[in-house]
Amino acid sequence: MTASQCGNGNYLPLDTRMQVYAPVRELAGLGLSYRQIQDAVLKAHQVRLSKSTISMWVNGLHEPTGRLNSFRPNPTPELAYVIGVILGDGNLNIHGYNAELILAVTDHDFAEEFSRSLAKILHRERPYKIRWSERKNRWVVQGSSILLYKFLNCDWKSFKKWVEHCDRCRGAFLRAFYDSEGSISRRLVVSNTRRELLRYLQTLLKQANIETTSCA
Ligand SMILES: [Zn+2]
Repeated sequence: MTASQCGNGNYLPLDTRMQVYAPVRELAGLGLSYRQIQDAVLKAHQVRLSKSTISMWVNGLHEPTGRLNSFRPNPTPELAYVIGVILGDGNLNIHGYNAELILAVTDHDFAEEFSRSLAKILHRERPYKIRWSERKNRWVVQGSSILLYKFLNCDWKSFKKWVEHCDRCRGAFLRAFYDSEGSISRRLVVSNTRRELLRYLQTLLKQANIETTSCA
C-alpha cells in the first residue's frame, strides 16, 4: 500500500487534494457510490483515494484546506437574493462534474448583484466574472457549487425560512424578483406552482407595505 492509498488523504500533496476535493463532493452529490467516485477520480486525475477519505470529505468532516466553494445555508440577504434570482431568471444545471448556477441577463447591474451575492455565500474573495455572451446576447454569470445546487434545487416553499428571516432578507428576495421581473411574468402564467409563488410574493410585498396589482 502506498502512502496515497491509505489514511485520510492527508498524505496526498495539498494541491492534489485541492484538485480532487471538489470533484469528489460533486460526484457524491450526483449519487455515486464511494467505489464509483474512487474509480472516477483515479481515471480522471490519476489519484487513488481511500474510501475513508472520500467518506470524510463527502460528509464534511474534513476539508482539504478549509473552504472550497463551501456552502452553509446561513440566512443572509445575499442568500435570499440568490434564491430569488434562481426562482426567477436564473438556471441550475448539472453536467459532468459541475453543478452550475447561471444567470444570463441584459441588465449588467443585475448580473453584478448576482455575482457579488453568489461570491459572498460561497466565501469567494472576489465576485464572479461577468462575461458578455454573443450567442445569448446577454451578460452571463456562472458559479459552481454542488452544495448550493442541492440547496437550491428544491420546491420554492422550502425557502420561506430563509426568505422571511428578517426585513433585509425579505427585501433582498423581493429585489431579486424586481430585477428579473420581465421574464418572470412570462413564466408565471405557465404553471400553478408559479402562480402560488406570485401570490406568496404579493403577501411579502403587502407585509412590506408595497402596493401591488392583482395577479392572474
Ligand atoms: Zn435576514
